[in-house]
Amino acid sequence: MSTPFNLENYGIHTTNIYRNTSVPILYELGLRLEKGTAISDVGALMTYSGEKTGRSPKDKRIVKHPDSEGNIDWGSINIGLDEHTFMVNHERAIDYLNICEHLYVVDAFAGWDPKYRIKTRIICTRAYHALFMRNMLIMPTEGELADFGEPDYVIFNAGQFPANQYTSEMTSKTSVDINLERKEIVILGTEYAGEMKKGIFSIMNYLMPLQNVLPMHCSANVGENDDVTILFGLSGTGKTTLSADPKRKLIGDDEHCWTNEGTFNIEGGCYAKAIDLSAENEPDIFNAIKFGTVLENVVYNKETRQVDYSDTSITQNTRASYPIHYIDNVQMPCKAGHPENITFLTCDAFGVLPPVSKLSPEQASYHFISGYTAKVAGTEMGVTEPQATFSACFGAAFMMWHPNKYAELLAKKIKEHKVTAWLVNTGWTGGAHGVGSRIKLKYTRAMIDAIHNKDFDSVDFVKDEEFGFQIPTSCPGVPSEVLVPKNTWDDKAKYDEVKKKLIKLFTDNFKQFATDVNADIVAAGPKNLAS
Ligand code: ATP
Ligand code: MN
Repeated sequence: MSTPFNLENYGIHTTNIYRNTSVPILYELGLRLEKGTAISDVGALMTYSGEKTGRSPKDKRIVKHPDSEGNIDWGSINIGLDEHTFMVNHERAIDYLNICEHLYVVDAFAGWDPKYRIKTRIICTRAYHALFMRNMLIMPTEGELADFGEPDYVIFNAGQFPANQYTSEMTSKTSVDINLERKEIVILGTEYAGEMKKGIFSIMNYLMPLQNVLPMHCSANVGENDDVTILFGLSGTGKTTLSADPKRKLIGDDEHCWTNEGTFNIEGGCYAKAIDLSAENEPDIFNAIKFGTVLENVVYNKETRQVDYSDTSITQNTRASYPIHYIDNVQMPCKAGHPENITFLTCDAFGVLPPVSKLSPEQASYHFISGYTAKVAGTEMGVTEPQATFSACFGAAFMMWHPNKYAELLAKKIKEHKVTAWLVNTGWTGGAHGVGSRIKLKYTRAMIDAIHNKDFDSVDFVKDEEFGFQIPTSCPGVPSEVLVPKNTWDDKAKYDEVKKKLIKLFTDNFKQFATDVNADIVAAGPKNLAS
């Protein structure tokens, strides 16, 4: 008889280990042992991530090691950590895992292409975390698990236990530490499950360019003619929402790679925002919420166990995690050819950018490196204006190399495969936030449909004089006046004023890249208004 599964080689002596445990058993354990956990009226597992209801980007650290140091784009996003401090946190995590009565292990793959996938091992203390990663990773078959061997990367999730703030370099009780040489991630002081998912994404963002593969923070789907579309975008811009399209097969909603052979999803599941979710607006996602789905930080009726998706009293960032096959129309395995269309999603709360426009390859590079979106005015005192966010590659928080590394790979692939790039503003129309309103999801969907149906091949375009991109003048299912933003503003002078401001924000942000990128990319940025 073979020896039972154990974690002794990590110095973990806990003997009661649930490895790749079935969904019903994880439900039972979660309900029994994790405070507040409940079953929703449709069978989803409602769980709470505690104090942290979103990622903690400021607490992410990467170990500085001579082997990888020269490859990392160090700065305020990729903050270095010395090996000794990593080991202090590592030992703290192991010590905590050792006092837990039982542990969960998820052994699974990241990456649908067998040529590039990595074997990951998640060691965690909550059924919620195990179920989440079961949903988000690609679960091995019984045979694959038997042959799994040693994982390539291990996550030690001791998030229920804090980092010690008196440890040098620790600035809070939360720490997410990546060690590329030991091939480990240590999590302390946060139970937000998204840290594990994005931790693996960060690793892929490091590893893939070493093999000339472009990792991308994007969703992807494929049409009946095998035409692939990828949708880049920062959080909240619509990657998940717009990629779930009953007319097309979903490849994935968040993390993909583009190889010399085509595209593949890194993940096995989706992680959808649940705020204001409705069967009417987002039927595919709504219907994916059932037995096996993790519902994070939602508020529900104590009697009926019906979720109130409009209730944001715990967080705005309520989420649903489910395996990708919970969506009706999926590409299985989640792999496809080269993209025909690339869409950059932005949620422009200034209401300046057109809801859809066509980009030249140089403009595509410019916007990819800029990674613009905006946040609406929050509840903070005195914040009344939209806040612009520029996050290179539409995901700077997860990129390890300098943005140029990814931008060059993308530019090369766009050229090689004659891809058309589009900018889609899912944000404001008719004025900035406060005056205008968010563009109807119905219209955005119609514009994406038009891209897929090649409707824009036969329409006239107008050039935006400052940004230089081409705006289609008509689109099936969308009133024409919506297409040119200035037409939707009552106060035309105000539009010019806000546009000027946004252009300055773009230009100021791009200064940091000006010396690293080709002159024609810099030149593809917006020009100042004449007046
Ligand atoms: P993350 O990276 O955090 O997963 P995401 O890019 O996947 O973010 P979504 O989860 O798709 O973002 O969130 C978009 C949100 O905006 C959804 O709640 C959706 O209902 C809402 N929304 C409103 N109007 C639109 C629109 N016109 N287009 C897209 N989404 C819209
Ligand atoms: Mn998403």
